[in-house]
Amino acid sequence: MTATIIDGKALAAAERERIAEQAGRLAEQGATPGLAAVLVGDDGPSHVYVGAKERACAKVGITSHGARLPADVSQERLHAELDRLGADPDVSGIIVQLPLPDHLDPVAAQERIDPEKDVDGLHPVSLGRLLRGDPLHVPATPRGVLRLLEHAAVDLAGAEVVVIGRSQLVGRPLATLLGLRGTDATVTACHTRTRDLAAHTRRADVVVVAAGAPRALTADMVRPGATVIDVGIHRADDGSLYGDVAFDEVAEVAGAITPVPGGVGPMTVTMLLDSTVRAAARQHGLA
Ligand code: NAD
Repeated sequence: MTATIIDGKALAAAERERIAEQAGRLAEQGATPGLAAVLVGDDGPSHVYVGAKERACAKVGITSHGARLPADVSQERLHAELDRLGADPDVSGIIVQLPLPDHLDPVAAQERIDPEKDVDGLHPVSLGRLLRGDPLHVPATPRGVLRLLEHAAVDLAGAEVVVIGRSQLVGRPLATLLGLRGTDATVTACHTRTRDLAAHTRRADVVVVAAGAPRALTADMVRPGATVIDVGIHRADDGSLYGDVAFDEVAEVAGAITPVPGGVGPMTVTMLLDSTVRAAARQHGLA
């Protein structure tokens, strides 16, 4: 293997130490950060994800204000809960765990979150601020990707970066962030209708793959020495995890690469914690 492994697990651990120190300083000033995860119904994976987020919060000194609502809760009642959390000074960040039961409108719920507390970065105000070049809250996974690239000392100014995938949660905000003044990458946003994906990826200095498709990036698509970030997560029959990148063969060509697991994944919850601590600092005038 020629590529350097970009170790997201180690970076996430270091970042969580820093976040815990910040949370501790805020607590001393009466501004303990708090995260409210709103969970509706009995969806098994959602309970697992929220449980993992709340355990991560506890480890860095963020208080969880978990709100559990029954599966048959009305949209009005859900909005009332979001309003209550929005008005609670102990709650710095609010997330609505998706998917919601079919009778509920997730977009309306996301729009009900106080934009100051929108740590998932999905409120139209957050998305608008990102587009304006003045981000307030940015989704955690794109932030994690940028932090990994920074940690790997990849010079993004003027670099050719290809992002594969244009989802609201990952690809689109990431492509926007990379192109902002101050980061200054030249970004190509690719998707399922891109005519010749390999022609784009072959000239890229950095390829970020967030396609949700196994083997979306193979060795013949990568310029020797390029940096490859794999956002994808898939579970094999034996329970092991793998990504969107054909890791073994791409690692023979790339200069640096994130593994799955242990790359982007650990950074996602870490960036949610970071956003929550930053929100607490800002809301208490301590930013
Ligand atoms: P999504 O399905 O919402 O979006 C995928 C995007 O990729 C779409 O825009 C689609 O046009 C594009 N695409 C799909 N196949 C393609 C192909 N073969 N070539 C080019 N473009 C293609 O998915 P998402 O929510 O953005 O997530 C993407 C992947 O990242 C999934 O595997 C998901 O599980 C994973 N994910 C990981 C984390 C993490 O923390 N590591 C966080 C979020 C998502």
